[in-house]
Amino acid sequence: PQSRHAVTLRTAAGAEILMHIGIDTVGLAGQGFEAHVSVGRKVAAGERLITFDLDLIARRAKSLLTPILVMQGCGFAVVSSSDSREIAAGERLMEIAPSAAAAGGGMDGPGSGAAPGASEEVRRVRVALEHGIHARPAAQIVSALKGFAGEVHLAVQGRNANARSTVALMKLGARKGDEVEVRAAGRDARAAIDAAAGILAGVHEESSGSARAVPRPSAAEPAGLGQKHPSAPASKPVSVPATAAGVPVEPESGAALRGVIASRGLAAGQAVRLAAREIEVTRTGAGVSHETQQLAGARAQVRLRLQAARTAASGAAREIVEAHLELLDDPELTEKSLAVIAGGTSAAYAWRQAVRESMEALRALGDARMAERVDDLLDLESQVLLAMSGTAAAAIQRLPPDAIVLAEELLPSQLVALDAARLAGIGLAAGGATSHVSILAAAMGIPALVAIGPGLRRIADGTALLLDAEAGLLHVDPGAERLAATRRQLELRSARRAAEREAAQRDCYTADRVRIEVLANVGSLADAQAAARNGAEGCGLLRTEFLFLERETAPSEAEQHAEYQRIADALAGRPLTVRTLDIGGDKPIPYLPLPAEENPALGLRGVRTSLWRPDLLRQQLRAILGVRPHGQCRILLPMITDVTEISSVRAMIEEARAEVGRHEPVELGVMIETPASALMADAIAAEADFFSIGTNDLTQYTLAMDRGHPELAARLDALHPAVLRLIARTAQAAQARQRAVAVCGGLASDPVAAPILIGLGVHELSAVPSVIPRLKALIRRLTLAECAAAARQALEQSSAEAVRAIAVSLAACVSEPESV
Ligand code: PEP
Ligand code: MG
Repeated sequence: PQSRHAVTLRTAAGAEILMHIGIDTVGLAGQGFEAHVSVGRKVAAGERLITFDLDLIARRAKSLLTPILVMQGCGFAVVSSSDSREIAAGERLMEIAPSAAAAGGGMDGPGSGAAPGASEEVRRVRVALEHGIHARPAAQIVSALKGFAGEVHLAVQGRNANARSTVALMKLGARKGDEVEVRAAGRDARAAIDAAAGILAGVHEESSGSARAVPRPSAAEPAGLGQKHPSAPASKPVSVPATAAGVPVEPESGAALRGVIASRGLAAGQAVRLAAREIEVTRTGAGVSHETQQLAGARAQVRLRLQAARTAASGAAREIVEAHLELLDDPELTEKSLAVIAGGTSAAYAWRQAVRESMEALRALGDARMAERVDDLLDLESQVLLAMSGTAAAAIQRLPPDAIVLAEELLPSQLVALDAARLAGIGLAAGGATSHVSILAAAMGIPALVAIGPGLRRIADGTALLLDAEAGLLHVDPGAERLAATRRQLELRSARRAAEREAAQRDCYTADRVRIEVLANVGSLADAQAAARNGAEGCGLLRTEFLFLERETAPSEAEQHAEYQRIADALAGRPLTVRTLDIGGDKPIPYLPLPAEENPALGLRGVRTSLWRPDLLRQQLRAILGVRPHGQCRILLPMITDVTEISSVRAMIEEARAEVGRHEPVELGVMIETPASALMADAIAAEADFFSIGTNDLTQYTLAMDRGHPELAARLDALHPAVLRLIARTAQAAQARQRAVAVCGGLASDPVAAPILIGLGVHELSAVPSVIPRLKALIRRLTLAECAAAARQALEQSSAEAVRAIAVSLAACVSEPESV
């Protein structure tokens, strides 16, 4: 590194030794140090690595103490060392040996103890990840490497990172197109590099194109194309007048502060200010071994608490807890803390130093995604410090009724410690719409505005507030009348929601008694349960990828069968449409590396991947065919472009049926999500039993716009007339052969699109569980004639905007008024 104050040596056998000259010397930015080697150089015993100006460092650094550490996780440990005496140059300092043998001792010194079969592999890989190595791929790499023994490092532009550390990988700041050197040691070095390279070469971003990083709420559908992302893009942060000195004055009654929408909704209530939680720590420690134990004890406590929270949580909350668990055991934070403790400080001081250093490094990258992960580090810092101070986990904080909590920033652990029954809304001066606390607030259904700016600081406790996280405004002291009107509106909404939810349990018909089936898209057992609660008439799309992602090996046939059966049971006999594995493209699987592809969206994905790995498909087919009662499941094939793909899979189904001894046939449907399949729908209808239109991919491929492209997100609307014409054609072909036609892409979860889809001839919608009650309520107010007219009009438009305008005004006409 540029600071030249430390060097890591890696022996041929994979042992890693870090020498860190002085304490806190990174801050010297290289002053007083001269590096004689560059990163990645092979060095011989006796070669000069770094020379340094001892006087300068003694004056400027906190300490001259120089920790020499054998890195945790490299598979080596110290066997013996020369303690408390002066050592001459060339003399033996310590002996290290492979960890398993360390107990027996007696190995050679560094560099000479190559384990049999150990080897080092190096490969250069270009980062294809749309947003570089941000938090999610970093965590994926760490997780993918868990099954490998040796060390793996990534280097880019002179920066080097331990690939087992999420923090270190994020700090690399590697962007799309950067060339990364992946270096691995040990017997399985090549496979480890394959796993890391697979992730670097894939484009596993959020399919909504949203900036979310680590968490991927399982219950929440990737916002489909045509569904606008719920958070408004960054709007001007503050609208408060400032004094000449730049200090905001107290917002006047009736003033409105502008913020960024992090969780949509409305709230009327009173301001409750949360003070920043700064925990005092003393610097001086009580001895290295005592402090090391303190740190280990506190982390163990937090780990236990987080593990318990993980079991209890689901969806976004669970993924956030998982991210915190990953960070808690991050080797970079651990090593840094131990190095600081070695300088004589307390464990609390060392932990804070380690965390803050990483926070600064992430902030310095100037990347909003990374900066938002800073909150997670801060959260973890305080959880560990609280554990060290013997303070129990934050008790539920009492709130007055209708509390609108205002704070500079809020940490996920602080949010979950608030009394949720009384928490009406959240307003933050700082923060981002995609930070974990924002995602958590959205998952909890609590309206939130972030990045409101310094004006927020001047709002006194108890001030009446109207938080409009639909328009992005926080109204200060809006007057009794306005507050009362908002409260009435909220009551109406919640009464309407309750009524819609109750009515959702009944089958859905239009006002003129045309049956429209409303099913749910499901990605997990929890989603299936939510589907049943929300009145889904079955599952129109089970994305089986969920069972394969975020694991180290493929699930066995028995595991798959058990999970499909659990989901079928949760649906209590309602139809279950199981889509075969749709991997590749934006859903790579580390343990199933696909050949490197220039353009994965146009490469091996969906059914193509399954036909490329027929062994996996056969297993999956057998697992589905075994689900009871026979007849509940139907099979759906993703990414079909040719009729022959269907006949190939049908032949495999027949074989699998014979293998599992099943007599009953199974319905086989296809996703219409490529222009080719829509245009060939008549030929495909002869082979397939039903159609399900995947508007997310159909839009991406029709408009030639990547579904994860942030710049194009606003134009990527499935209501584009080109897409609608393909849907119309598909529906006609289906009708001619009496085949059912459904839409399961994101457009089906967009209530304003329902009249047009129904008008085009779609009689089945498969949507996100939570929108089903709304969707059914809307459909019940429509007639087929209205829908057909809307569809005809839509097909004549020349842009998606024009179609959307028609859809929105029709939906507004038939919806119950919600404002008072
Ligand atoms: C689609 O493409 O519309 C679809 C439903 O499939 P996925 O979003 O899983 O690619
Ligand atoms: Mg798709």
